[in-house]
Amino acid sequence: MKTIILKFGGTSVGSIERIKKVSQIIYQYKKKGNKVVVVSSAMSGVTNDLIKKSKLISKDFERAEYDVLVSTGEQAACALIAGRLNHLGLKARSWMSWQIPILTDGPYSNARINKIISKQLLKYLNSGGIPIITGFQGINNLSRLTTIGRSGSDASAIMIAKNLNASECIIYTDVEGIYTTDPRFHKRAKKINQIEYDEILEMASLGSKVMQPNSVQDAKLNNIDVIVKSSFVNKPGTLITKSFKKKDFGNQIITGISSTKNDVKITIAGVKDKPGVAAYIFEPLSKNLINVDMVVQNISLNGKETDLTFTIKSEDLKRTEKIIRENKNIFYKKLSFDKNLAKISIIGVGMITTPGTTYRMFKALASKKINIMVISTSEIKISVLISSKFIKKAIAVLHKEFNLD
Ligand code: ASP
Ligand code: MG
Repeated sequence: MKTIILKFGGTSVGSIERIKKVSQIIYQYKKKGNKVVVVSSAMSGVTNDLIKKSKLISKDFERAEYDVLVSTGEQAACALIAGRLNHLGLKARSWMSWQIPILTDGPYSNARINKIISKQLLKYLNSGGIPIITGFQGINNLSRLTTIGRSGSDASAIMIAKNLNASECIIYTDVEGIYTTDPRFHKRAKKINQIEYDEILEMASLGSKVMQPNSVQDAKLNNIDVIVKSSFVNKPGTLITKSFKKKDFGNQIITGISSTKNDVKITIAGVKDKPGVAAYIFEPLSKNLINVDMVVQNISLNGKETDLTFTIKSEDLKRTEKIIRENKNIFYKKLSFDKNLAKISIIGVGMITTPGTTYRMFKALASKKINIMVISTSEIKISVLISSKFIKKAIAVLHKEFNLD
C-alpha cells in the first residue's frame, strides 16, 4: 500500500466550495487504496489578515505570541477539511502540529522542522484514518508554537513525506505546475514535465515564485520526489526530482528562464586596489542584512585603482548609499547608481555539457539590441543585468533561442 502526502495551498482551500473540491480529491486517492496524509495551509488571505491584526495591536508584537496568532489559520482549514471528509463517510481527523508532535529548532517565525514523532500518526494511518495536519508550524523545546516562514507548509509536507517514507508528495496549488518562464510575461511559457532540484533551486532564488526555496532544499537533501499540480483542473503537473537523463529533449539545454526586477547597479570607481578592500565594502552591508547579488571587479589598469560594481534591490538603495558614504575604511573617486534594472537568468543542467550557451544567449540579446550591463554565471545558470524596460523582449527572444516556445 502506497503512502501519499497531499498538500493544499491557500487558494486550494480558499473557500467552502474549494474545501469541498479538495475533499473530493482526497476521497479519490483514498478510494484507490492508498494511505493518505493531508497537509493544509490556511485559507488564502487568512495569514495576511492575522499579520495585519498583530500590527494593529503592536508594532513590536511579542514573537512567541505572534507565532501562536499566525498559525491559527491552518487549524481552521484542517478542521473544515476533516469535517467534510467525515461528512463523506471517511475516517479523518485534524492533527495540530503539537499533537503529533512536529519539533522545530531556531527562532520564532523562522524555525526549521528537525524531528517528527509519528508513532500516533502511524497507528491512525494504519487503522485506515486520514490525518489532516496543520502545515507551517511546530513546537520548540519549550513546547511553544513556532512557525517556519511564509509559505512554509510546502516544507511541512516534505518533512512529513520523509518521516513517513511516502512514495509521493503532491503539492496542490492554483497553477498547473512549473513553467519555463512566468506566463504573465510571456504567453508562450510552457509547463515543464520534469525538473531537477538544483534547477528549481536556482529558479526559486532567481525570482520564480514556484515553491519555497527551503522546502526544495529539504526535498533535495532527503531525496523526495515532489509533484506540483493544480487542484482546480485535473491535469498532470511538474515532477521535481533528482538528476535524470533528458533523453526526450535532445536539443534542450535550458529548462527555464527567470527574471527579477527592481535591481540597482552600484559602481564604486577608482577604489584603491589593495587586499581587503572588497571585505571593507561588503562587511558593513552584510551586517545590515543588505543582500548583494552580482559582483564584478575590473582589472586595474595601473595596478593602483580598480572599479567595483555590484547589484542590490532598490528597497535597499538608501541604506546602502549611506553605509558606503559613511565608510571610513574605503577611498574612491566616484560612486554611481543605475536604477530600474532587471536580471534575466537562463537555467538548465544541460549547459554543463553544452559549450556555446553563453554565446547564444548574448547573441540573441544583441539581435534585439538589448545591452548587457553585468554578467554572472554558475554551473547551471547564466544571469545578465539589463534595463527593466526590456524584460519581456529579452524573455521572448531567449525562450525562442533555447527551443522553449
Ligand atoms: N499560511 C502560511 C502563509 O500564508 C503558510 C503557507 O501558506 O504555506 O505563509
Ligand atoms: Mg500559502
